[in-house]
Amino acid sequence: MKIGFIGLGNMGAPMAHNLAQGGHEVSGFDLAAPIPDGVTKASTAAAAADGADVVITMLPNGAILRAVAAEIIPVMAKGAVFLDCSTVDVASARAVAAQAEAAGLMAIDAPVSGGITGAAAGTLTFMAGGPDAAFNIVKPLLDIMGQKAVHCGSAGAGQAAKICNNMILGATMIATCEAFALADKLGLDRAKMFDVVSTSSGYSWSMNAYCPAPGVGPKSPADNGYKPGFAAELMLKDLRLSQEAAQSVDADTPMGARAAELYAAFVEQEDGRGRDFSAMLPRFEKRGRSG
Ligand code: NAD
Repeated sequence: MKIGFIGLGNMGAPMAHNLAQGGHEVSGFDLAAPIPDGVTKASTAAAAADGADVVITMLPNGAILRAVAAEIIPVMAKGAVFLDCSTVDVASARAVAAQAEAAGLMAIDAPVSGGITGAAAGTLTFMAGGPDAAFNIVKPLLDIMGQKAVHCGSAGAGQAAKICNNMILGATMIATCEAFALADKLGLDRAKMFDVVSTSSGYSWSMNAYCPAPGVGPKSPADNGYKPGFAAELMLKDLRLSQEAAQSVDADTPMGARAAELYAAFVEQEDGRGRDFSAMLPRFEKRGRSG
């Protein structure tokens, strides 16, 4: 297929590279990032999109997605697919999909989980929203960039699944970290704590697969000085998106709201920026009940 790829940052570059390796003709554009191997450089976003069967965007946020969409939708060929893989607010995903459809295009929102390592290895998980016909067209591309693609429903459903998942992840990571800090103060050995919880009803992905305590459980960013991994500021972004969405539909999400507050304090007032989101454990370790 002829593919336009816009946003060649940490995630977009390896995804575009994998598509080119998979035999597709990829034309890429980014305001700043270098063009990955195998991808042809386009001089503008519109040039990358012109004549493409599928245009993929991997951008920082909804405002930038809307701006890029306004630039590329008018030049895209009728029947082409606009595939947005960024993590953005549900409202922007739906607005861009409506604009694309009004112009005779098809749109899919397909945010990912799996991070930079998953992008490089082609093992991302995609959660997709949009019409069946569009999903079927992009599915072979998702299969190159990832190991699993779930078609979650209509426009915005992919973003909805992503922020619900990450709201659970933020809350369980905090719960796991505060429990380790409590266990420390109660004199409980961390390895014993892991052994019990990882095989008991307190288990979760945060404990079992991404244990925030160094030297305990499987290898994780905790074993590498809390170098991300998944940076605390990206978790904060997703938690804020979840709270924005909750607000817009009057959903009561007290744990998600508290997780967003704690990550905001960690990233914006403490030393969390640039650290893995599991560095909440050393944060709790240092604190008492009054801060
Ligand atoms: P990034 O900041 O590394 O990349 C974004 C790229 O977009 C940058 O290279 C930037 O120059 C480019 N860009 C910005 N405005 C542009 C414009 N108008 N035209 C063209 N290019 C433009 O971010 P990333 O880590 O690659 O993340 C991309 C998206 O994926 C985000 O929405 C993020 O939330 C999501 N995501 C990231 C991860 C992760 O672990 N990094 C995991 C899952 C999802």
